[in-house]
Amino acid sequence: MADLAAYAVSENNTRGRKIIEEAPQGRSEFQRDRDRIIHSNAFRRLEYKTQVFVNHEGDLFRTRLTHSIEVAQIARSITRRLRLNEDLAEAISLAHDLGHTPFGHAGQEALNACMKGYGGFEHNLQSLRVVDKLEERYAAFDGLNLCFETREGILKHCSPDNAARLGDVGERFLKDRRPSLEAQVANLADEIAYNNHDVDDGLRSGLITLEQLESVPLVAEQLGEVRRAHAHLTERRVVHETVRRMINALVTDLIRQSENNIGAHAPAVLDDVRNAPPLIAYSQAMNDMQRTLKNFLRVHLYRHYRVLRMSAKAQRIISDLFGAFMADSRLLPPQYQIPAEHDRARAVADYIAGMTDRYAIREHRRIFAVEELV
Ligand code: MG
Repeated sequence: MADLAAYAVSENNTRGRKIIEEAPQGRSEFQRDRDRIIHSNAFRRLEYKTQVFVNHEGDLFRTRLTHSIEVAQIARSITRRLRLNEDLAEAISLAHDLGHTPFGHAGQEALNACMKGYGGFEHNLQSLRVVDKLEERYAAFDGLNLCFETREGILKHCSPDNAARLGDVGERFLKDRRPSLEAQVANLADEIAYNNHDVDDGLRSGLITLEQLESVPLVAEQLGEVRRAHAHLTERRVVHETVRRMINALVTDLIRQSENNIGAHAPAVLDDVRNAPPLIAYSQAMNDMQRTLKNFLRVHLYRHYRVLRMSAKAQRIISDLFGAFMADSRLLPPQYQIPAEHDRARAVADYIAGMTDRYAIREHRRIFAVEELV
């Protein structure tokens, strides 16, 4: 990776790994992080975890795995243009959802409610917990022993209480400092990916329509251009061409505005980035447009009655499982059977969060369905 900007994260300015290891041969430290993430169990499970639609509803809908790959693609395009560390942005992108529960946000909310008396549950924090502790792949340490900058990027949000507990990686939340530009890029690439693929999946599912989307300026602008340029396209192609152009418009705007911000603040070294305001950002106009799109999706897709029905079912599965395991720990696989209530709750949360959608459904059936007895 030649020609990195002076303020990019590099092997020369990294804060390194908790447990010191020999330098990798033939690849960079951040390539190694990415490779470790790809080989983890949690990464493979992303294939069977939901974004918005439950995993088995259709083969064309995004899963957390394809979502994470799309995030990585967008983050790499942006970091390359800005002369930032592409490998780091890719590693953060591929790891950012590792801690997600089954059933998307409905699952996360349900598990958080179950964990209320036990320190709560937050998927960002859980993603960090997966790479710091839960993966069991190495003889010498728990987790993946990733570089500080990768871990920092995974932890997007954090409450002050948790930040104080987390040490180095929580520090910036207490001191009001920013993460690396690579982390900032991965964060926005996440948003670009899901806003656009939710439009695509929402249309494919029939829960939202193109006519409705014409009230959203970001969509209307690109849709208008597509229709003007191509009079006889099938609806599918109109949708794909529009979404493709929307992603391009967002990425192009983000790169341009971020270049301006970087120019204005002129960071000389990585630490300057941490002390500056967020430098990776959209223009004001684009920011307004993408907020309108988000709002539209919240009202018309995420709160669509058919999505809410799935969410309600998902929440019931998660809270039933949590309740059953807390009431009788003998129902748990042996490694999760912890006598102390508080620690058992965390182990149960780890167990449930690690489940795929279909595993959670099966586990629920195994525990609650009477017909399974016969
Ligand atoms: Mg995501």
